[in-house]
Formats: sequence, C-alpha cells, structure tokens
Amino acid sequence: MYDYSDECARALGYSCYDEYLRSEHWKKVRKEVLSSAGNRCQRCGSPGRLQVHHKTYENIGQEHVNDLLAVCRECHERIHFGPFYIDDLDLLESTDDESFTNRIAY
Ligand SMILES: [Zn+2]
Ligand SMILES: [Zn+2]
Repeated sequence: MYDYSDECARALGYSCYDEYLRSEHWKKVRKEVLSSAGNRCQRCGSPGRLQVHHKTYENIGQEHVNDLLAVCRECHERIHFGPFYIDDLDLLESTDDESFTNRIAY
C-alpha cells in the first residue's frame, strides 16, 4: 500500500513513520500540542486518551501548530474513518482490523 506518511518520514531520514513517532522531536511536539490544547480533545473537550492527529504529513519534522490537532481516541477514529472530515484519503484504503489498530496510535 502506498503510504504517504512513511514517504515523508523517510525524506527526513527515518526508516518509517512509526520510527518518527518514537523520536524525541515528535514526543516534544506532541506534548506541546496536548498542553496547548489544555490536555483536552479539541473536538469534543474530553480529557481522556488524547492523541495528536496530523492534518497533513507535508511538514513532518517541522510541523506547524495548524497541522496538528489534539484529539481523544474516539474523535481520532472518527477523523480517519468516520462520517465527517476525512482528509487523509489514503487511509480509507485500509480498514482491516490490524491496520486500524496501528493507525489509531497516530
Ligand atoms: Zn474527542
Ligand atoms: Zn490522525
């Protein structure tokens, strides 16, 4: 499967997007996004199980604040798979359970 996120991560010297997500840079960015959102989901306001969504992968490694969204797990699932607001069209191609679980970590 063509994976744009992996391609962007490789352009930065990471072997894949997962490796990028384990980098110190991403941990720092992620923390900043969550704390600037008040550690609440920017969609529904829930404080539980927050994740950071990339609206675009184009600026990986130097994300703008506007590229990222602090969301709870449920809203994150909806962003990628739900009825509203799908901006990562390539993700629609993978709806089997395994890749679904993998995606949720993003
Ligand atoms: Zn939410
Ligand atoms: Zn996401």
